[in-house]
Amino acid sequence: MLRNCAVNAEHSAPQFAFPKSGVDIYTCPTCGCIMADLEFVHEQYEAAAYYTMAFKNKAEIEAEWGFRWRYILRAIKRYAPQARVLDVGAGNGYFVSLARTEFGFNADGLEISDAEAAYARETFGLEFLRGDLASVPERYGVITSFNVLEHVQQPMALLAQMGERLEAGGYLVLTTPNPTCIHRRLRGLNRWSMVCPPHHINLFTRGALEESLTRAGFEILEYGTLSTYINAVRKIDTESLMLRRAAFQALKSANLGADHFVVCRKK
Ligand SMILES: [Zn+2]
Repeated sequence: MLRNCAVNAEHSAPQFAFPKSGVDIYTCPTCGCIMADLEFVHEQYEAAAYYTMAFKNKAEIEAEWGFRWRYILRAIKRYAPQARVLDVGAGNGYFVSLARTEFGFNADGLEISDAEAAYARETFGLEFLRGDLASVPERYGVITSFNVLEHVQQPMALLAQMGERLEAGGYLVLTTPNPTCIHRRLRGLNRWSMVCPPHHINLFTRGALEESLTRAGFEILEYGTLSTYINAVRKIDTESLMLRRAAFQALKSANLGADHFVVCRKK
C-alpha cells in the first residue's frame, strides 16, 4: 500500500489504479504522478540484456543515441559552454564520450552498475565515477541525468543530491518519460510500455516534474519533449535522417514526445 506521493507527501493519498507485472500501480490525485509500489531492485542494472548494453558496437550505439545526445549537447552548449559536466546514470557512456570528443566538455559519468561501467570502459575507454552521488567530491556547472529519475524510489532525495553537487547557478538537464506522449495516448495508461516495474518506479506528469524541480530548489528555464527513438521511421529513413527529424519536430511542437526534456538552474 503506497501512502504518499513521491513528489510531495502533502498531496492527497495515492489511489490504486491497476496491477502490472504483479506490482500495484498508483496515481496521485493531486499531481498525476504514476507510482509503482515497490523497492529499488539493483540487480536488473547488471543484466547484459539491459537496454543500454544491448548494442554490439559503436555504430549501433550511434544509430540509437547519436541524434538525441547531440541535440541535448547543443542545448547545454548554449547555456554553459565551458562548464564541467557530470552525467548521473551514465549508462553505456556514449553521452559522456560525445560531450568530450565532439563538444569539448570536461565531462564525467557516474554509474552504479558494474556492468555498465565495464561496458563504457571497453567501448569508449571511459572510467566512470562509481557509487552514490553523495560521495562525489567535486561540484559541477552542469549535471545531466537522462531517464534516471523514473528509476529511483525517492526522486526528491535524488534531486536534492544533484542540487548539492551543482555550483551556485549551475544547470540541471534531465529527461524522463512523458505520460502524455503519443504512445500513452494511443495505448492507455495500463498498456503504456513505460509502466514497467521493476524498471520504472515513478512516472511524472509535466506538472509533477515541475513541482518536483521547484521544490528541490530549481528554476525551470526550458521545457520541451523529445522523441528521438522513432522506430516507425527508422527502417525507411534516409541517410540524412530526414524522416526522423520531421517526426521529432512534429511531436516536439505538440509536446507529444516520448520524454520530458527540462533545463533548469539551481536557485
Ligand atoms: Zn502528487
